[in-house]
Amino acid sequence: MNINENFLKLKAGYLFPEIGRRVSGWTEANPDKTSKLIRCGIGDVTEPLPQAVRDAMHAAVDEQGERDTFRGYGPEQGYDFLRDAIVENQFAGLNISADEVFISDGSKCDTGNILDIFGHGNKIAITDPVYPVYVDTNVMAGNTGDADENGAYEGLIYLPCTAENGFVPAIPSEKADLIYLCYPNNPTGTTATREQLEAWVAYAKANDAIILYDAAYEAFVQDSTIPRSIFEIEGAHDCAIEFRSFSKNGGFTGVRCAYTVIPKTLTATTSTGEPVSLHSLWNRRHATKFNGASYPVQRGAAAVFSPEGKAQVSALIEHYMGNAALLRQACQDAGLTVFGGENAPYVWVQCPDGVDSWGMFDKMLEEAQVVITPGAGFGAAGEGYFRISSFNTRENVQEVCRRIAAL
Ligand SMILES: *Cc1c(COP(=O)(O)O)cnc(C)c1O
Repeated sequence: MNINENFLKLKAGYLFPEIGRRVSGWTEANPDKTSKLIRCGIGDVTEPLPQAVRDAMHAAVDEQGERDTFRGYGPEQGYDFLRDAIVENQFAGLNISADEVFISDGSKCDTGNILDIFGHGNKIAITDPVYPVYVDTNVMAGNTGDADENGAYEGLIYLPCTAENGFVPAIPSEKADLIYLCYPNNPTGTTATREQLEAWVAYAKANDAIILYDAAYEAFVQDSTIPRSIFEIEGAHDCAIEFRSFSKNGGFTGVRCAYTVIPKTLTATTSTGEPVSLHSLWNRRHATKFNGASYPVQRGAAAVFSPEGKAQVSALIEHYMGNAALLRQACQDAGLTVFGGENAPYVWVQCPDGVDSWGMFDKMLEEAQVVITPGAGFGAAGEGYFRISSFNTRENVQEVCRRIAAL
């Protein structure tokens, strides 16, 4: 009996468990101060579900309680009412059809599961810093070698995102087959311009590469010149897959609903050079290993696009972006250099001179009782930065701002 030994290559000290260890160590040592702790670390929403979503879910649960309206297994790809609403509201004019949208229970799973349809031996490019899921799922799939002492995996192409390049990686000189891009970005909270995305699409087309585009934070884009979808870029339908989620706009982190968009024109090749539709492979994969998101959840997701739902989601976004503006200002007033937080719920802050990102984590915990996320936990290029999440109540954010000022 063998195991998948790729799992043994995964690093034990994963970011959030390490944060958890340090926080519980501190709370045990400081029981009197524990009640002051404010968590601005993990990227989870804090505000309750929109009323329109709850109403739709209640109604759907009641439908499930009546013989005439009860629904058992639904289509694995999702109900038409939701796929149609997504296309109409999110991809109008972008030449995406409802049957190119696959409903799921999360983008974390989709961005990991997508590797099922790709072969081995592909060159994988990821940004640094990065959402750790992209890396770890490639490790599990056997697409990497071992990690070195800095935690970098052999065989991956790391694309540094720095203040110098505006946190959008330079086009590599070598050929990559799969490229993970996430904009607005987690963790840096920065965005990519149309020109930058055009350059990536051109690179992907020239290299027969596929861009895996994670647009989980598109709803936070305030600047109308910034693309919300990779499919706003000409040619992307031939080289990109997009992941979207209801987690951050609708507050569905605990409800679970997301979707993946794969144009039917998108192909990749067999070892003998035959083109194969990735849409049909994913359709087969999805229908075989997934039995559809729950009916009440899909009704709740569709309600995000109702007039009331849209207004309520806008209010949520406005709330979080208001938080982000306060956090940006507080950090700037404290003399820190700040990035992101204008079209994304994350503020990416440069550590003061002489303090590294875990040093800053400890300092914020011990001196301000605020939990932040050290940039180094997202990759080597994240060293020297920390992430503050604006997913919080206004009260907590105002208190965090006061404590930053007092540091
Ligand atoms: C939060 C987040 C998602 C959404 O994941 P779900 O599984 O849909 O909750 C996807 N990508 C990134 C980068 C995220 O931060």
